[in-house]
Amino acid sequence: MRAVVQNDKSRALRRVSRAPRATAVLAVAVAALAAGCAQGDDQGVRGAAGQQAPPARAVDGAAKAREARAALVAAAKRWDLKRVPLAAPAPPAKKPEIKAREGFEVDGQESDGLPPVFTTIPIKEKIVFLTIDDGAEKDPAFLRMMSELRIPYTVFLTDEEIKDDYGYFRKMQARGVTLNNHTLSHPYLPALSYEEQKREICGMQDVMEKRYGKRPVLFRPPYGNYDGDTLRAAKSCGIKYAPIWSEEVYVDHWEYREWDQDLHPGDIVLTHFRGTDDWDGTMTDMVRRFLDRITADGYAVARLEDYL
Ligand SMILES: [Zn+2]
Repeated sequence: MRAVVQNDKSRALRRVSRAPRATAVLAVAVAALAAGCAQGDDQGVRGAAGQQAPPARAVDGAAKAREARAALVAAAKRWDLKRVPLAAPAPPAKKPEIKAREGFEVDGQESDGLPPVFTTIPIKEKIVFLTIDDGAEKDPAFLRMMSELRIPYTVFLTDEEIKDDYGYFRKMQARGVTLNNHTLSHPYLPALSYEEQKREICGMQDVMEKRYGKRPVLFRPPYGNYDGDTLRAAKSCGIKYAPIWSEEVYVDHWEYREWDQDLHPGDIVLTHFRGTDDWDGTMTDMVRRFLDRITADGYAVARLEDYL
């Protein structure tokens, strides 16, 4: 198949992740303690006077985990979630083998050696990955919400949407979110020549390096549309992976790609940086909808890069 088309109606993207490794370790500790932890019990270890001798390391760790749990419960309440988000397991020591999606070989040829395009991560755990595209809406409340709830996410940025405020995404980066490539101007890539595609992708690599100090290794083609030239151009620009998505969440509905209209372990979920200009709601309304749905089904959000 020459070009794969997915309708992402595109315009906004999204942001925030969590502090890398320490958070994952903490998440495990939090999960282990969650069962025995009631809301607001974080002062238990300190005692009534709050000034005992420094606790042993294990006790200290348990106290921190309890505090983290209490903070998360309070944040969930503050952001009006129906349930407290579930903690993702620690990142896998052995990364799953990412294979290019079947049935979509580019130019009718094998795509060995090119960045794989994929819609899910092959895992069994009830985990989904949140990805946010474009960059138009720059909502400070969204940054706060994701940090306070400690929800990881991955963003794919288009220069035309972010150049009026590169600083917003610098704040996101400082919070542990990985910023990735979504072209300079969000074109329908298969309509362009190889050289034009290369300019769109490598040009965005240059912007990312100049503005954020790093050349991304993840690239997402606009609308999920690509051809062989896209992947060859992306590879020449240093891209290793081209994740697309298995479903899309909006402020007021979900769009699934699979016939069963359900979540699956390892699903990559797409949404956009959009606000009330496009949606009947805000970024934080969208996140609330997303989290309430996945938590109700027993899913946690993990960081995509930890699985690649
Ligand atoms: Zn897009």
